[in-house]
Amino acid sequence: MTKLEVVFLGTSSAVPTKNRGLPSIAIRREGQVILMDCGEGAQEKFVKHGLGLNREMLILITHLHGDHVNGILGLLQTMSMSQRVRTLTIVAPAELFSWLKTTMEVLHIGLTFAVRMVAVKHGVIVRGSDFRIRGARASHSIESWSYVFEELPRPGIFDPAKALALGIPEGRKWSSLQRGRSVVVGGKRFHPNQVVGPKRPGRRVGYSGDTRPSKRLARFFSGVDLLIYESTFAAKDFDKALERKHSTAVEAAEVAKEAGAKMLVLTHFSARYRRVDPLVSEARRVFKETVAAHDGMTLEVPQLNGR
Ligand SMILES: [Zn+2]
Ligand SMILES: [Zn+2]
Repeated sequence: MTKLEVVFLGTSSAVPTKNRGLPSIAIRREGQVILMDCGEGAQEKFVKHGLGLNREMLILITHLHGDHVNGILGLLQTMSMSQRVRTLTIVAPAELFSWLKTTMEVLHIGLTFAVRMVAVKHGVIVRGSDFRIRGARASHSIESWSYVFEELPRPGIFDPAKALALGIPEGRKWSSLQRGRSVVVGGKRFHPNQVVGPKRPGRRVGYSGDTRPSKRLARFFSGVDLLIYESTFAAKDFDKALERKHSTAVEAAEVAKEAGAKMLVLTHFSARYRRVDPLVSEARRVFKETVAAHDGMTLEVPQLNGR
């Protein structure tokens, strides 16, 4: 079974603190890494957590505020220095790409690998062999996007005892049924749903980026296993959240509840809070399954039984 993990590289907002770096979160799945935002210092954390510099990799950028993108160049250079050869895909608002190209020209940076630049859009943005990335517009002070990583549904479980009971002999006919094709045995037709269980949904991880909460986002995150949501402010600083187009921990919890998420991870905390436990307590009153991210935290997204 494929292991799906989320590694929090940076969990502060705007400025780093003693214990929290700038926003950057990695989804690790077998040989593959999906990095969501790339704040300054991401390359150091990347190496520290052994995320690998030549893996199949995607970078998803939510918006072009410096604290979410300033780490890209350093990460690309480190990858190049370690002779990366695999193409790297970056999904971002299109303006990012002209900034990257210009900076690389000015600094005479040549990379050992190709960078595929994909402009973010609504709906499915990237299709992998067994996963996809979807995007939806968020609501921040500048153009900002939220993302969902989702595994494609896996085929249902084949029941050999049922197949034998129906008189279907083991062999090629079994594999045909497993692949969703009907078979004929002794002049009688058998359909896959007679011996194969229902498709098992894949796991889903949602990431808000910087945003005000909205019903639209709650729909976008519907049914995610893990919702990573910004909670820059505590409830007492709601006016600041409103003014700066961020969310409070309580608002993050309201989105998680409305979306029917299984678990909520709060991140992107304002540097003004020395401790974030009060924010977690506020959120838990609305959505119980809430935890606060900290730098270096690793969470496994479990594959539930029967799924
Ligand atoms: Zn931010
Ligand atoms: Zn921002």
